[in-house]
This record gives sequence, structure tokens and C-alpha cells, in this order.
Amino acid sequence: MKAALLYGPRDVRVIDVPKPSVGPLEALVKVKICMTSGTTVKQYARGYPGRGYPHGFGYEWAGEIVEVGEGVDKSLIGKKCISFAPEYACNSCFFCIRGQSNLCAQTGHALDKVRCEVDEPEKGKVSGYFKEYTKEKISELYILPEHMHIDDACQIPYVAYAIHGHKILRINPGDYVACVGAGAMGVIQMMLAHLKGAKTIAIDVNEDRLDFAKKVGAADFVIKAKNAHEAKMALKDLNINNGWGPDIVIEAVGLPQTYEEAVELVRRGGQVLLYGGIPEGAKVTFDTYRLHYDEIAVFGSSGVTMEDVIRARNLVEWGTVKPSIFITDRFPLIKIKEALELHLQGKGIKFAIIP
Ligand SMILES: [Zn+2]
Repeated sequence: MKAALLYGPRDVRVIDVPKPSVGPLEALVKVKICMTSGTTVKQYARGYPGRGYPHGFGYEWAGEIVEVGEGVDKSLIGKKCISFAPEYACNSCFFCIRGQSNLCAQTGHALDKVRCEVDEPEKGKVSGYFKEYTKEKISELYILPEHMHIDDACQIPYVAYAIHGHKILRINPGDYVACVGAGAMGVIQMMLAHLKGAKTIAIDVNEDRLDFAKKVGAADFVIKAKNAHEAKMALKDLNINNGWGPDIVIEAVGLPQTYEEAVELVRRGGQVLLYGGIPEGAKVTFDTYRLHYDEIAVFGSSGVTMEDVIRARNLVEWGTVKPSIFITDRFPLIKIKEALELHLQGKGIKFAIIP
């Protein structure tokens, strides 16, 4: 079967690897779709910290069960499914017992671990889902309802991450929620804010992303700004909260500069969510006056709990959130480099790879 592996920064190769064979309580799944995302593109462009080459990648996927192992109900063959595996936690450590399984001491930052596995392509061991087939434990698969489209289903974990961050904030009807970064992460956050009765403002440097946020109805207002100063002026022009600024600012980029910008833009007594991930060791500078005297609450958000996944699944199943809107274009696996380059250059929101 074909699989796409990274051999170095911007060096992706589609190679032949052995097709996996299923064991007891396992299923062989034909991967029907796997999305490019901010994470996969970062991994493509500069590698993953501490991880050697070659390795597979791609994590938002959906497929169809084509074969099952011993002990698995044969009627599952032909069913569409996704996997929640990276979201599993030990359920017995200090954090899991306190309901913070996203911080699990055993599998916390589990996705990082998945992404750091050693691949052995010659033996068919390829991580990620930019590949034709995958072998999964049946207990880790979620069988999709008939009416749920794989284009939406493959992004349920992505929606779950947004829900996790969203739940940390106290958003009330009538609040203004600004989002620094109008990519897919920011758009989902704004959609969730709408569900709470808030008005949303998208702030970005990229006009295409702002147009998209407006077009899909996620952003009520859009601001094109290169830095905090420009964004602040534009927020004043919009007279958000009589010029005091948004009640909540969500950082959905993942850069030190935008972390600082988010804290600068929020109103006194407001809340900031640092949602975009930044590599370990990065430093930012805040005016302590803002945090102490202006009583600004700053929150981080990392990972998901199964509760977040269930909420995301419901929103997608009900059609309240349709992540398929993020698919700019589709590419066969053999053209994955083209899709990753377009994503990297910001020429679209996300791209679907069809293995
Ligand atoms: Zn745990």
C-alpha cells in the first residue's frame, strides 16, 4: 500500500509499505480522508521536536472498516469510523481522578507521544494517517452514524480541542469575543462563541482568512491588522464596549507576538485564552499592570478530555457545527506535497488528502 512519510523538512515521499494484517480485537480500516492541519504543516515544514526521520503524519482522518480480526463483530465491515485513540487517558492518575484527563500523567500530551513513535516503514509500521490502510483496536474506533459525512466526522477531534478551550472561558450572552487568528482554529472558536450568544470579531493579517470567517458566518466583524496597535485602533473605531475592547480575546495563532497582542486587546476585567500551541521554552512579556490592576484572567488550553470529544461528536452529529466547510480542496495521496505547500503558504484553510 502507499503511505506518505517525512524524510526531512519539506521532504515528503509517497512510498510502498506492507499492508498491515489484523489480529484479535482489531480492524483493518481503509483511510478515506485525512486532513492537512496547522500541526501537520508545522511538522512538514520544520519537523517535530525530538523526532527522527522518516516518519508518518496526519491525524484528522476517517475511514471504512474492510476487515476484522478474531472476536470482532463481522457486521462492522463496511461501516464508516474514526478513532479517538490519542484522546484516551489512564483514568487512574492524580489528574484523571480530578477530571483533568487532558493532563494525564500517564498519557498526558498523548498526541505528542503518538507523534514521537519510531516508524519502521519497511515493516509496515507507519504512524499518522496519510496512508491507504490502518490497523486499529476495535475498542478505539467510533462507528459513525449513517447520516454523518466523513468530511465532517474526520474533524471531530479538532472541534473537541476547541470545545476544551472554550469551556475554560465564561462567555455570556451579549459578550464581545475577539479572535486573534482567523484560521480554522479561530473560526471554530467564534462559532462556539455564537452558540453562547456572543458577537465575534476576527483579527488577522491574512485577508483571505478574514473573508472566509465572514463568509461562513463565524465573524460578525473583521479586522485586518499586523500588530496589537493596529488592532486596538480598529477595535476603537468599531466602538466595542464603548471603546474599552472585547470582553474575551482568544489567541488562535500560536506565536509569542500574538500571545502578547491578546493580553493587550482585552478590556479591563476581561478574559484571555491562549489557545494556539507554542513550542516549549518560548517567552513572552506582559505588562503586569494589565494582569493585576486591570484584573485580566489569562488561561491556557491543552488537549481534550473524552467529555470534550463527546460534546464535539454531538455538535457534528446534530449539524450545529459543520467542519467540512474548512476543506478548501482535495488531493490524491500522491499529490500531498502540493496540498501541504498550499496550506503552508496560507492559500486555503485546510486540504483533504484522499489516500
Ligand atoms: Zn491519567
